[in-house]
Amino acid sequence: MLGRWAKRGKKITIKLNFESRKNGTVISRNTILELKGATKPDEIVLIGGHSDSWDVGLGAIDNGGGTAAVRSAIISLAELARKYPSMAPKRTIRAVFWTAEEQGYFGSDQYFKDHKDEKIVFAGETDIGAFKPKSYNAILQYTGNKGDIQLFSKHGVPCAYYISDQTNERYFPLHHTRGDYPSAFTPEDIDAVAAIYAAAAFHYAQTDHKFEELIDDTVTDHSS
Ligand SMILES: [Zn+2]
Repeated sequence: MLGRWAKRGKKITIKLNFESRKNGTVISRNTILELKGATKPDEIVLIGGHSDSWDVGLGAIDNGGGTAAVRSAIISLAELARKYPSMAPKRTIRAVFWTAEEQGYFGSDQYFKDHKDEKIVFAGETDIGAFKPKSYNAILQYTGNKGDIQLFSKHGVPCAYYISDQTNERYFPLHHTRGDYPSAFTPEDIDAVAAIYAAAAFHYAQTDHKFEELIDDTVTDHSS
């Protein structure tokens, strides 16, 4: 019928009314990629982002781009280690894509409970726009209590968050809206943030710095 109306040139207006409701709980899983450390496999450098999204749009900036960048970082490091064994990281690098962040950090809360006794030396996350840096205001910032890594931070693990310098212009106007589509990114955005995470993860996997000293020197609590 709609097809016939359209052929006749009749103007068609369709109104849809969607409502959501709580429908009980279901099982949802974190996704994990790991590159085993060559000489200190029990020490873990964690990088990640949440893999779920809000229920409108496609969840590209929140947080498809963040997870794509972290995924690309660990796959690139694994390929590098395979091709050049001397480039294998000393410590284990683990990428975790947490589920159910939007409903209240369920994936990362469970992950922390299951893994708090492991020796996690550093944790990094991206969740507010995997945009290519345009200036020195884009930083990997040591954080206090933020996002999926906040429980690790609260328990003394040095944690860093990628803060884009374009969050206000390119992230918040689309965040949790129907406009959150992959067209929000340029191809260079994800590559640049992947490079940032690969370099940071590799550095923390190799460094001889004491991590306790690292956090004493640099940590700032931005939770307020
Ligand atoms: Zn998010």
